[in-house]
Amino acid sequence: MKTKENSVWETIKCPVCKGSSFADLFIKKEEPFVRCDQCSLVLINPRPVYEKIRETYNNDYSRDYAKKAHTKLKRSLKRVALVKKSFRSEGRWLDVGCSAGFVAKAASLSGFNAYGVDVEPWGINYGSTELGLNNLSIGLLEDQAYPENFFNVISLYDVIEHVPNLNILTKELKRILAPNGIIDIVTPDVGHFRVTKPLSDWKEIKPSEHLYYFDKNTLNRLFNNHGLSITKKRFGFKASMKVCIQHIK
Ligand SMILES: [Zn+2]
Repeated sequence: MKTKENSVWETIKCPVCKGSSFADLFIKKEEPFVRCDQCSLVLINPRPVYEKIRETYNNDYSRDYAKKAHTKLKRSLKRVALVKKSFRSEGRWLDVGCSAGFVAKAASLSGFNAYGVDVEPWGINYGSTELGLNNLSIGLLEDQAYPENFFNVISLYDVIEHVPNLNILTKELKRILAPNGIIDIVTPDVGHFRVTKPLSDWKEIKPSEHLYYFDKNTLNRLFNNHGLSITKKRFGFKASMKVCIQHIK
């Protein structure tokens, strides 16, 4: 790894425990997958710098997504219904990494005041024009300057594993989440019994795209560092984690 150019690759500390000692797991498409010696988070490290990673979020990514519009909206309505059933029936809902806006649309149809944010303009344009959503924004979450304690529900569906700076994200989530609000997260679960062996063959292992592979402990620890905690975990047959997160009381 020492031969990699500094301008294109960056070495990071563990975003969960700040550790800097890692065990090598395997290399895929030239990217080294490692496990943190202290907290066991699996991540790509060193990894391509954000500008390189950003190139994977091109228009095709969003166009593929919009093609499956009907299926996406149906799945989104199910996810929103689950949150409504257990926690919230109204208020402001923010979907982070909203892409074309199907979760925001589902939240809106279910009685929420829906917001969405995504780095990719094409999806936002689709959501605004085709789905009639008014509160979609382009850019990183932390650049939106939403008011404090603003959102009753914040969702991140298949998003947190892509985010370059997890601690900036988590700090911002804590700031904008209402006191009794919930964060609903779905992310691949490296601790799930159905994860393929060897790990390098698991379909969720995606160089440049999935930067981190959490289990319940590592995800909870990340949020604990910022005054948030997992309060509910839903069981799933797929190797993904479905959790709700709230302020630590
Ligand atoms: Zn760690």
